Amino acid sequence: MTTKSVCSVNHIDHVGVAVKDIDEALKFFQEVFGAPAAEIQSLPDQGVRATLIEVGQTRLELLEPLSDDSPVGRFIERRGEGLHHLALNVSGLAGNLKKLEEHGVGLVDREPREGLSGMIAFLHPRSTFGVLTELVEN
Ligand code: ZN
Repeated sequence: MTTKSVCSVNHIDHVGVAVKDIDEALKFFQEVFGAPAAEIQSLPDQGVRATLIEVGQTRLELLEPLSDDSPVGRFIERRGEGLHHLALNVSGLAGNLKKLEEHGVGLVDREPREGLSGMIAFLHPRSTFGVLTELVEN
């Protein structure tokens, strides 16, 4: 970790996976990869049903769209199920967003908002090599 970085990262917080049927996906990860029981939550403001599950050293966030015209619904329509975003754990999210913006990184969220895993903000994939990147502080 360099002290000169714009935004230092603690670790990968989770990896987001867009799925059509979250109940089926959760069951798969539990049966096949031994993920523990997890609660599925409805997040209408984000247009998803979602859950965070522990898989080995990291976590997966399963996302099922509540409707076809939600962001995750459109994602699945365009690209099918699959990797949706990468979430990096940081300390001092609000300050880091400011520094990233000053550095010219495109932000989807200019202010932290509440997410499944703590306070979150998304960076624009055009600034992060096509990977929708979420910053998480928890
Ligand atoms: Zn996420």
